[in-house]
Amino acid sequence: MAETVFGLILSGRIPCHKVYEDERVLAFLDINPLSPGHTLVIPKERAETLDRLSEESAAALGRALPRICRAVMEVVGVTPGASGGCNVLQNNGSWAHQEVMHVHFHVIPRTADGRGLGVVWKPMAGGAGFDHAAGASLAARIAALV
Ligand code: AMP
Repeated sequence: MAETVFGLILSGRIPCHKVYEDERVLAFLDINPLSPGHTLVIPKERAETLDRLSEESAAALGRALPRICRAVMEVVGVTPGASGGCNVLQNNGSWAHQEVMHVHFHVIPRTADGRGLGVVWKPMAGGAGFDHAAGASLAARIAALV
């Protein structure tokens, strides 16, 4: 895998504003934040996309993410449901808006003044339009591979 900007941060060759580190995980401020406190949480393992990440790194990310979310929201002053919230975004592949090919989770506060992640959600067909027969078949095929 080619060296990425996050690889350079991990090896200390370029700086970052670090907010958390453990044996497997590093978190630092995004250099182009959507809102104050926008943080990136990455595994130290060099994996391009989530599907290629080891279970050990995934578990470490899972442990760190809630703690980092809590800290970011507290410092920024948002409380889910009361004064904003927080989105966690994870992109895989350039078609899915991934620019840096090293697994990362964005922790993006949504502030009461509207800063944060903008989402365009376009369901194919929902509610009464959902094809349950096709859904059952699709779910079974996915479940067989998990
Ligand atoms: P993505 O589109 O999910 O791959 O997002 C990559 C993110 O990395 C973007 O939000 C960038 O602003 C961020 N980024 C790129 N270079 C740096 C850097 N040197 N330090 C911090 N964040 C960076």
